[in-house]
Amino acid sequence: MQEAKNLKGYKKEVDDALQNEFLRTAMDNFAVAYRTGRANAFAGMDVEALVADIAAAKDAAIARMDELFEEFKTNAEKIGLKVHRAETASQANAIIARIAKENGVNKIIKSKSMTAEETLLNHHLEADGYEVTETDLGEWIIQLRGEGPSHMVMPAIHLSRFQVADLFTDVTGEKQDSEIERLVKVARRELRKAYVEADMGVSGANFALADTATIGLTTNEGNARLVTTLPRVHVALVGLEKLVPTLHDALLVNRALPRNATGQGITSYVTWITGPNVCGSAPDNKKEMHIVFLDNGRRDLARDPVFAQVLRCVRCGACANVCPVYRMVGGHRYGHIYIGAIGLIITYFFHGRDKAENLVQNCINCGACKAVCAAGIDLPRLIKEVHARIQDESGHPLTSLLMAKVLRSRKLFHTLLRSAYLAQKPVTDESHYLRHLPFVFAQEHNFRRLPAIAEKPFRDRWPLLKTAVSDPEMRVALFSGCVQDFVYPEQLEAAVKLLSDRNIALEFPTDQSCCGLPLEMMGEKKTTREVARQNINAMSSADCDYIITLCASCASHLKNGYAKLFEHDETMTDRVRRFTSKVHPFSAFLHDILKVKADEFKPVPVKTTYHAPCHLCRGLKISEAPHALIELAGLDFRPAQEEETCCGFGGSYSSKFPNISSQILSKKLDDFKKTEAEILVTECPGCIMQLRGGVKKRGDNLKVRHIAEVLAESKRQTE
Ligand code: SF4
Ligand code: SF4
Repeated sequence: MQEAKNLKGYKKEVDDALQNEFLRTAMDNFAVAYRTGRANAFAGMDVEALVADIAAAKDAAIARMDELFEEFKTNAEKIGLKVHRAETASQANAIIARIAKENGVNKIIKSKSMTAEETLLNHHLEADGYEVTETDLGEWIIQLRGEGPSHMVMPAIHLSRFQVADLFTDVTGEKQDSEIERLVKVARRELRKAYVEADMGVSGANFALADTATIGLTTNEGNARLVTTLPRVHVALVGLEKLVPTLHDALLVNRALPRNATGQGITSYVTWITGPNVCGSAPDNKKEMHIVFLDNGRRDLARDPVFAQVLRCVRCGACANVCPVYRMVGGHRYGHIYIGAIGLIITYFFHGRDKAENLVQNCINCGACKAVCAAGIDLPRLIKEVHARIQDESGHPLTSLLMAKVLRSRKLFHTLLRSAYLAQKPVTDESHYLRHLPFVFAQEHNFRRLPAIAEKPFRDRWPLLKTAVSDPEMRVALFSGCVQDFVYPEQLEAAVKLLSDRNIALEFPTDQSCCGLPLEMMGEKKTTREVARQNINAMSSADCDYIITLCASCASHLKNGYAKLFEHDETMTDRVRRFTSKVHPFSAFLHDILKVKADEFKPVPVKTTYHAPCHLCRGLKISEAPHALIELAGLDFRPAQEEETCCGFGGSYSSKFPNISSQILSKKLDDFKKTEAEILVTECPGCIMQLRGGVKKRGDNLKVRHIAEVLAESKRQTE
């Protein structure tokens, strides 16, 4: 559970987590195994369609939350169930404590429930004098350690078996072996006593079916069945978003939930409870059963046009499993109680701004979470929305305000870049890298070398490159993005070379500016929109058929980001639709639209590997085109492990969290080294800055090139 009050303190917590070798290895192993397990579990299924169906079913249920609650309550009361609704976490805890008191309860057993974690139920019950025992193995372990979960499905994933053996030695007073089977036996022996002695069982629920007042639980250990059947009182604490109309909806979700959570087709136990069961330990053999529905902001969220979709979450934990930042620092530093991407968002709503404001800044915007979300939630976008909301509420940091001021005016921004070229000259070496970083950057930023700003930006070179085409087959406008324009103009020149001799009228509208993604990442939403308008105007002036860009991040932001920025502005709808429909990343344009052929290139059988930029492979779902181009150019392709994992750049992220960025980069460079490739090809200047800078710093023998450069070099000259 991250506890730091300010960003500096939070960064210190994060840096400490990065030193935890065991955590890093465990997370790496898990991340790799998870990916294979998930892919196998979903093999042969139409995952996109399933996710869309789940999203639609959940959205429909969320819109009817109050109605479904009333339906559940009416049906529940007919079968002897008592139903409560708690507005807040403390009300839920108080209701459960009251039920315990009224029933003369002393000992309570619990099965795993994130909703109970959310309300800090154990603390409340223990403070009231009840003895509470968690019965899920992972939950029991963290309860004994006095910790919160570090994963929603695997709460003790951060611990080694040796740590657990030491813990069990302390608990039992006997030396315990670290063999996992023996540790499980110890837990079973200790927990059996708790089951037998308990007066009350507390569970959560994965589903609450309104038409039959049934709750459903999916578990792997069987403990939930004992918790819900053995004690004479059963209380289920359930978030209102778990209400669905029928079993059909629950089964739909359950097709994805275990597959996405742990790569299982189905969990070992799926339990459906409709009303109180016969119970030998109850005075009249009849169990007392209560359902406590928790609101805690859910009903407000259900009415929020932007954030209602977070209530679709089925708590599978997949968004953490694939997150490169979670993988580095673990759940105690990548969440408050709820962890991973969804945790970054709902922490703000369930636990308040103070708990969320550092966390939301630690998202690199790689999109990996969105790509696997069982409920199709646009997690990266909502993380940025929370960040923007927090800044609007508590004030924008000075750096963010300055950036907004500068980027709002293209002329000012470009003038500053030109001045920076002059200012950096004394510290630029002959290979166009900065010799050393300015003093303000501490040692921790020194994990990569940074390139100098080019002497002549692309926009100044363009007049000499531009050629007149009298009767063009198509009109294409080039969007450069600021990094390629001012740092890597040669990449754009390579693109111009590739497009020459093709009867294409190429334009470079010079009023274009930064795409605005860095502003959005900083929470400057208003200026992000202003800059987007400027770019739409600038590119529209070219009256083109296509807008192409060599920057994957720009492409994704221009196409998807701009559509979202103006989704509620009807005056922009048509313009934005026209604009976004024209945007294509460079490789897709060459491969899918120009349909370039192998005979246009001289084969260069150099050992080559590829890094898939996040915003290309996930943001725009383009994977085939760059691979096909590498093959067409006759390069000797050597795929790297985890080709689609983020490189750790993330724009300003790498400056804000340099130690995480550096660790992600280091892992990537190790993977590339294993391929023995001489060239690393990619399609994003940000990735190039990060990867090339890392290679240069490490002294690896690897050339990092934009795909346009590699193709332009092997292009056959036309006669
Ligand atoms: S966008 Fe990437 S870094 Fe951010 S939460 Fe999702 S997976 Fe993690
Ligand atoms: S946000 Fe999506 S991926 Fe994350 S836990 Fe919820 S359903 Fe699973």
